[in-house]
Amino acid sequence: MTKYNLPKKVIFCKKCVQSNQRPNTSPEFEKSSSNIGTLQFDNDVCHACKYYEEVKNKINWKDRYKELEELCNKFRSKDGNYDVLVPGSGGKDSIFVSHYLKFKMKMNPLTITWAPHMYTDIGWRNFQSWLRLGFDNILFTPNYKVHSKLSKLAFKKLVNPFQPFIVGQKNLAPKIADKYNIKLIMYGENNAEVHNNINDTHSPLMDPKHYSVEDYNKELFLSGLNFKDLKENHNLNENDLDVYKPGLREKFEKKNIVVHFMSHYINWSPHDNYYYVKKHSKFESNPDGRSEGTYTKFVGLDDKMDGQNFFTMHVKFGHGRATNDACRDIRDGYISRDEAIHLVNKYDGEFPKKYFKDILDYLDITENEYWEIIDNARPDHIWKRDGNKWKLKNQIK
Ligand SMILES: [Zn+2]
Repeated sequence: MTKYNLPKKVIFCKKCVQSNQRPNTSPEFEKSSSNIGTLQFDNDVCHACKYYEEVKNKINWKDRYKELEELCNKFRSKDGNYDVLVPGSGGKDSIFVSHYLKFKMKMNPLTITWAPHMYTDIGWRNFQSWLRLGFDNILFTPNYKVHSKLSKLAFKKLVNPFQPFIVGQKNLAPKIADKYNIKLIMYGENNAEVHNNINDTHSPLMDPKHYSVEDYNKELFLSGLNFKDLKENHNLNENDLDVYKPGLREKFEKKNIVVHFMSHYINWSPHDNYYYVKKHSKFESNPDGRSEGTYTKFVGLDDKMDGQNFFTMHVKFGHGRATNDACRDIRDGYISRDEAIHLVNKYDGEFPKKYFKDILDYLDITENEYWEIIDNARPDHIWKRDGNKWKLKNQIK
């Protein structure tokens, strides 16, 4: 059996540069380290490309815009209460969604942010620029001791120090909506469009399994460990873990709280969002000209941990940040597949060294421990050792 149950034979999509080793988006709180589903392929074409060809490129966006108007009409507040919750960091996507809803749809959004513990300077400036457009915001900062411990455990168990952030952020929003009596939550992109089975992309709604559970008897995982283990062996208590827990499905259903994706209603493109946000705000792109591990300059800028999220993905699946960006840019018509292959071979897996010292300090590990965990995480069917370097066995050509 291969590590992480990945498909043994590496196949690259004929249309984009994605491989069949790409994990899909099953709920993070259900994940132990061995439980990873991967993106589906049909005849060497990935389901993300199939979705573009068979669905997205045929959508009548005028009709979808009308659907968005109807949705807003249904939820728009008449008494001054917030009527939509927009979770986000102040990156281009959350600025786009909240600005569009407030100024084009005349909604009254509350924005919510799960704060990174290690804001980059530019991330903090972009966050401030976002709020200056005229938004109320709840900035939720998790307990430093708890979150750094969970990040360290997630790095050791899942080789992904970013996982508790993803879980916490996703599960917090519906609970806050409930507290403020907001029925509609609006996210940007439906991740299913880029990593799941084509059938997951038809609904405007996020499947509640991603942010809720039917009951708490179900075993929950965080940082690759179940809650019992976290409490018994890692000195964490119920209060420490509560904020990371998904809410109860029945409660959300009773209150009619729903989570929609803006990408269902608007022809979603990272480039288009960037131009929109540049026009309407003081959003800044990466001052270094591009982010480490890729060729783009406007995605994932706010958290010093972002680079690690993509680097560890490259280690585990041979799929890095440049691949991520290039697949989107091919499908959105910004680059050709040949250009994408060149960019992937040039930048994918580049080590994010800019904040490495901060990361080691935050995770409270030594450089040697870091590399030991990383090198043990490399699956045999993806990596080979060449002298003192690691090389991909299957490089896209
Ligand atoms: Zn593809």
